[in-house]
Amino acid sequence: MSRVYNFSAGPAVLPEEVLKEAAEEMLDYRGTGMSVMEMSHRSKAYDTIIKEAEADLRELMNIPDNYKVLFLQGGASQQFAMIPMNLMKNKVADYIVTGQWAKKAYQEACIYGKANKIASSEDQTFSYIPDCSDLPISEDADYVYICENNTIYGTKFKTLPNTKGKTLVADVSSCFLSEPVDVTKYGVIYGGVQKNIGPAGVVIVIIREDLITEDVLPGTPTMLKYKIHADNDSLYNTPPAYGIYICGKVFKWLKKQGGLEAMKAYNEKKAAILYDFLDQSRLFKGTVRREDRSLMNVPFVTGNEELDAKFVKEAKAAGFENLKGHRSVGGMRASIYNAMPIEGVEKLVEFMKKFEEENA
Ligand SMILES: *Cc1c(COP(=O)(O)O)cnc(C)c1O
Repeated sequence: MSRVYNFSAGPAVLPEEVLKEAAEEMLDYRGTGMSVMEMSHRSKAYDTIIKEAEADLRELMNIPDNYKVLFLQGGASQQFAMIPMNLMKNKVADYIVTGQWAKKAYQEACIYGKANKIASSEDQTFSYIPDCSDLPISEDADYVYICENNTIYGTKFKTLPNTKGKTLVADVSSCFLSEPVDVTKYGVIYGGVQKNIGPAGVVIVIIREDLITEDVLPGTPTMLKYKIHADNDSLYNTPPAYGIYICGKVFKWLKKQGGLEAMKAYNEKKAAILYDFLDQSRLFKGTVRREDRSLMNVPFVTGNEELDAKFVKEAKAAGFENLKGHRSVGGMRASIYNAMPIEGVEKLVEFMKKFEEENA
């Protein structure tokens, strides 16, 4: 067996310890004589799994009691519709467009009501976060929407926008559990788990209880109502049971690492190794405005497409996988999520130095 350093943006690297534990429990989960994949989601064993997962997540994020935690399906993209369907009481929402994912969410919201693009960084290929301290927030906006960490472009909101009292909704798919957050600042925090938490197929929605109502847009399918999932503790229908089980293991792993404060320190240390190198490199350079840099996704280029392709190819041969940038930006991108060990980043930088000597 040999594992590579996997810099994929998602689905992405998971803690080896978690994968090993899951492997050990594959055929016989703790004396049940079956795999978690094979058991009823209404069984006692599974009840413990999902309840512990929720309790551990609440502890990690310090989630107040007036927020529900929902384990849903459909990926982050399904939330692009679910959010307006459930939250657009006045049929008005403000969107800050800082990348492809925010843009898709904005476009989806336009189907259901009046979505206003109140700020954007598209003028410079989404390489920065716009000033959101005094935006023209709509008087009757039901919420203000952001994508907090832009997976493709490698930017992150370091301060949350001033929503002027409106509910903040945030897609945190690619920075989920990478650092502490103050949940009370948000109405909804959600994310697909395949970036930083678990296997694709689970999306976690943390939503303030007063936002969960029967008053949804006419025609909203039952499965797309937050209320139905909240009332049934995420067990209205069969949940993505195995995925939630793995998420639960990752929550326990995070607690063992020291929680989100410790993860933040580790992630900052890791990211600094790469950014410090990029800042002094003669060949490689980062593509994002310095103050907006993500700790999770680090895009960089050589400025020469052929050389970029050569780098990606040689890196792969050396055991560094999935460094090719998103097709919309080109170049390279190293996603260095929670589970990427610091050695992975150190070795990548060593490899980049060598490549620079040979090619600069
Ligand atoms: C990957 C990603 C999505 C899309 O997730 P799916 O689960 O594939 O729908 C949405 N938002 C962000 C920030 C992402 O990184």
